[in-house]
Amino acid sequence: MSSKPPVLNTNRKFPDGMVSAHSILLKAKNGEKGNVKTNRYAIPAYNVTTFQSINAAISAAEMLGGSAILAFSNSALKFFGNNDQTFGLELVSSYIEKLAKRTKIKIATHLDHGDYISEGGRKVVQAAVQMLTSVMADNSTDHKAGKAMELKDNIALTREVVNMAHPLGLSVEGELGVLAGEEDEDTKSEHSTYTNPDELEQFLTETGVLMLAPTIGTMHGPNKGKPGQKVKLNIDLAHELLKIADKINNEILFVAHGASTLYPEVVDYTLKNLPSTHSSTQKWKDFVGTDWDQIEGLIGAGFAKINTDTENRQTFVAALVGALNKDASKIDIRHYEKVSTEALTQSYLKKYILAGNYGVHFEPKIDISKFKFDLSLDLNASIGVATK
Ligand SMILES: [Zn+2]
Repeated sequence: MSSKPPVLNTNRKFPDGMVSAHSILLKAKNGEKGNVKTNRYAIPAYNVTTFQSINAAISAAEMLGGSAILAFSNSALKFFGNNDQTFGLELVSSYIEKLAKRTKIKIATHLDHGDYISEGGRKVVQAAVQMLTSVMADNSTDHKAGKAMELKDNIALTREVVNMAHPLGLSVEGELGVLAGEEDEDTKSEHSTYTNPDELEQFLTETGVLMLAPTIGTMHGPNKGKPGQKVKLNIDLAHELLKIADKINNEILFVAHGASTLYPEVVDYTLKNLPSTHSSTQKWKDFVGTDWDQIEGLIGAGFAKINTDTENRQTFVAALVGALNKDASKIDIRHYEKVSTEALTQSYLKKYILAGNYGVHFEPKIDISKFKFDLSLDLNASIGVATK
């Protein structure tokens, strides 16, 4: 590929409160909060699948004065749009734009694992470019053939998305390497293939992406490795890759997929509320996440976007199990929606605080030191506000 890829158009005006994911992630990589320079931090990107999870992610960021990245998988869009992904995109983008007008934080909407290989995938990416502020062009795996995509094909497909998205101000996230674990709905590759540093320079210069998901040992899904065995990420490789990327353009930043940790409190709470003979208890005991110190290592290596999903889903389910166990006679949808949304909000708050995503746009509205993640507490109690 001879011609230069188009640079990201940073002059694009999105609706009030909306920005490209790259603009807030670059601040995180550079440790910028307001006019202050701090340590590197990361913005957890949450895979939202319901309107209540959108509400929870935005309200958690709003409490902390942090940024929000709402990520949509193809299957989530299908769910939102009653099987029509384009309609799903229309619904969520207009919903979020209305919410964004009422906040003082910055919000990005991102297509997660958009593929530009299949006809259906291309249609979703093309629609997302019109409606969201950021897209992932995941062409690293040929899902039909069940193998890694040839480098030149990954580059060509990703470049097509950059050609379309960058002039419109949408950031593009590429993927290089093959990630193990469930990727959205249909992939299950057993072995993770690390990103090859020798391919990185070519990929970055020829695609022009400013966001890259390299593979350094992370895994999708709730069972990252064997129960009782800790996940070990290749942090040295991450630093090696960052050096190469920084030399090309120091505005390039990395994204961690499959970076969910596990909240032991959530597992304990669920096990306490499930009958010990329940068939799902062993599965809850077997969940394996990535320890936070591993993720911290990645943040230091320029991973500004941390994709997390599993622990949020677990927290939602845990709260629901607890609420039903406590009183299943409350025949009011709002009661269970409130309990599960407040739990999600706690889960989002916890991860934002861990990742340092607070005080970016204004001082946190809550006392971070008083935040206590505890599903037996309601949201007010968990953020240290006395309930009247
Ligand atoms: Zn992913």
